[in-house]
Amino acid sequence: MPALVRILFKIWMASVVDWRIDLIKAYPNLFHPRGAGLEKARGYPVCGGGWRDLLNSACAKVESAITEGESFKVLQIKERLGTLRFYWRGGNLSTEAEAKIVEAIALAEARSSVTCEQCGEEGRPYRAGRVLITRCTVHAKGQPVELTPGLENAHIAPRIVDGQFRGISCCGYDRATDTFIDLLPDALGIEVGSGRSSSTCEAGYGC
Ligand SMILES: [Zn+2]
Repeated sequence: MPALVRILFKIWMASVVDWRIDLIKAYPNLFHPRGAGLEKARGYPVCGGGWRDLLNSACAKVESAITEGESFKVLQIKERLGTLRFYWRGGNLSTEAEAKIVEAIALAEARSSVTCEQCGEEGRPYRAGRVLITRCTVHAKGQPVELTPGLENAHIAPRIVDGQFRGISCCGYDRATDTFIDLLPDALGIEVGSGRSSSTCEAGYGC
């Protein structure tokens, strides 16, 4: 194969197989792409393909949450400390839309902590040298990070009450149902019936 054809083929393949570009094209109202070179677009996900589905799910929820007159812009999507970071900016959002968006993105970030960044199967955190990663057993590198029993899937999650965002709380994440769940009192150091807590959650928020 001539060199030029080979180069063009590689460029074509890169554009075909890049799920990140497909994501940006699928949600132009969220990413607001401009022209060609979408791999340089702000919001181009800088993370592994194992998180493609959870990002697709989050974007679908966000898009369905915003209505006419409201706007949303992805600022940055990246991996940090083994989990997803999804930064965004909204415009003229109703309280209902904001609540849905905050919850959708919090769920995606929580899901990334138990989803292999490489393949999308169930995963857990590992420490590979000085880097934290989330991997399944097949793609694991380094050593498993020791997790506190009962707090393995603890996250700071939005409190949505009557469709409105009411601050944050410390919750668990259930991968099977893709929902936030209450943590067991034992895990939080709460003696049931005493009404007192011997400790707060690791992030310092009472639950
Ligand atoms: Zn994997």
